[in-house]
Amino acid sequence: MSTADAAKAAGADEPTEPAATAVDPAPRDGSNPTGAPPSDGAVPGGDVVLALRHLEAGYGGLAVVRDLSLQVHAGEVVALLGPNGAGKTTTLLTISALLPALGGEIDVLGAAVTRRTRPHRLARRGVAHVPEDRSLFSQLTVRENVAVGRSRRDDVLALDQVLEYFPALSPLLDRRAGLLSGGEQQMLALARALARRPRLLLVDEMSLGLAPVIVERLVPIVRRIADELGTGVLLVEQHVAVALHVSDRGYVLNRGGVVAEGPAATLAADRDLLAASYLGPEA
Ligand code: ATP
Repeated sequence: MSTADAAKAAGADEPTEPAATAVDPAPRDGSNPTGAPPSDGAVPGGDVVLALRHLEAGYGGLAVVRDLSLQVHAGEVVALLGPNGAGKTTTLLTISALLPALGGEIDVLGAAVTRRTRPHRLARRGVAHVPEDRSLFSQLTVRENVAVGRSRRDDVLALDQVLEYFPALSPLLDRRAGLLSGGEQQMLALARALARRPRLLLVDEMSLGLAPVIVERLVPIVRRIADELGTGVLLVEQHVAVALHVSDRGYVLNRGGVVAEGPAATLAADRDLLAASYLGPEA
């Protein structure tokens, strides 16, 4: 299965079962100011929507992510940073059950993700994954893409509620997704995920191929989603400064392991770390 197909399976095209109710935002004091990895991945705070404990993830039995422990609370934006090849996409695919974990534990919305967990079941429980390639239905209109997956759900956002976050999509509702610009397509990918009113939102490199000015407009929308809907967001982003600006906390991966973690402001102030987050695995 391609990443696109897999992400569709995990995300927008699962039309049954009401989405879980959004929960109140957690306090933003759940960080780890020392920067030291917590022994059990524990971070004080509100409801935990995602917990990874000593996760090993990879391909063909070979781990590219090792001993990754992290948490995301309701209403929190957590940045997952690191250079190309660090293992960020692999981590998101494994959380979404699109890749089987090789070891460790994944807890999503209070339940374990195991080899038997099906991606569409996670989607029903309130997990939305916006993959790097956006995985839109290019032949469907903007309106249809947003509508996919919403039928028979009570706790979803109406189209006009979604458009409050993405007003630029309003005049494009009847345009086919394949005809949109890159920035518009990314908005639509986020809008489609938002329409499900996710409790856990996984966003992979939303800025890929987009102009910096578009990135600076788009990334803050995840902050608003977390604040207003209580969604916990795990944000993978190459634009490190922009990502940390909207995040509460961050983790920096290199060669598949956590090399730093802490409050976003602390990480943002560490210039060496920022440089290492952009460069290759030798950094
Ligand atoms: P990028 O920012 O470049 O997307 P990333 O941090 O998301 O990087 P991953 O895509 O998770 O990194 O890749 C981590 C490692 O896993 C890399 O060494 C990559 O070559 C390898 N990898 C990725 N996909 C596969 C695959 N399908 N089969 C085997 N190895 C893979």
